Amino acid sequence: MIYLFLTHDPPGLNHERNYQRKFSQRRNELVEGIREKGIGDEQVLMAIQAVPRHLFMDTALERKAYEDTALPISCGQTISQPFTVAAQTELLEVKKGSKILEIGTGSGYQAAILCHMGAEVYSVERHEFLYQNAKKLLSTLGYRATLKLGDGTVGWSAYAPYDGIVVTAGAPVVPEDLIGQLKIGGMLVVPVGSQKSQQMIRVIRESEESFREEKLQNFKFVPLIGEKGWG
Ligand code: SAM
Repeated sequence: MIYLFLTHDPPGLNHERNYQRKFSQRRNELVEGIREKGIGDEQVLMAIQAVPRHLFMDTALERKAYEDTALPISCGQTISQPFTVAAQTELLEVKKGSKILEIGTGSGYQAAILCHMGAEVYSVERHEFLYQNAKKLLSTLGYRATLKLGDGTVGWSAYAPYDGIVVTAGAPVVPEDLIGQLKIGGMLVVPVGSQKSQQMIRVIRESEESFREEKLQNFKFVPLIGEKGWG
């Protein structure tokens, strides 16, 4: 009888391991770059380290996945720059079990980051193709987010109130309906300005009637289109 002992992994498996190692190294470099740009929340950095951003874009762009840059997805939209995702997430002060609403699901990457941090995630997208794609991908990767196709400028009242709401497209003004869907102590993070440049605004609901607004860095987002957005 002949016994065959396999001392090496099959070539396909080695290839897959090298491929994953390569992405993991690039993710480390990305995380260090984002840390140097001022993100200090370790939970956010660990989520950026863990979520495979290259799976949230066309395979032709994979090699750019761990550069700190926004990249095109379908429907003329973008997956946000990792630093922007990290900055918005840090501003939300996410804790395990925080109930977070995202407006602008896009690729699903920001939703995956929030899920990885243990948030209960709700997300609204206006393009059906992106909504379907993100729904399938998040479920395949085991991220449990509840997604909806629709106009997020009016929020998602069925699940309100939220600990945090993050808008990942540029709004002309702070959308009123969204601040009304915050818990007391909850925060809305939204880029507001022209279609060319927006300032990041954080609105904190201090009581039933009072809100505090903080004005932060400038960013550039695709426009928030809808009833309470750019029309
Ligand atoms: N968070 C996304 C990600 O991780 O890929 C980034 C998405 S991109 C910068 C902004 C998204 O907002 C686009 O997918 C766009 O279609 C969506 N959007 C714009 N206006 C919207 C609205 N009123 N309701 C829902 N989604 C909207």
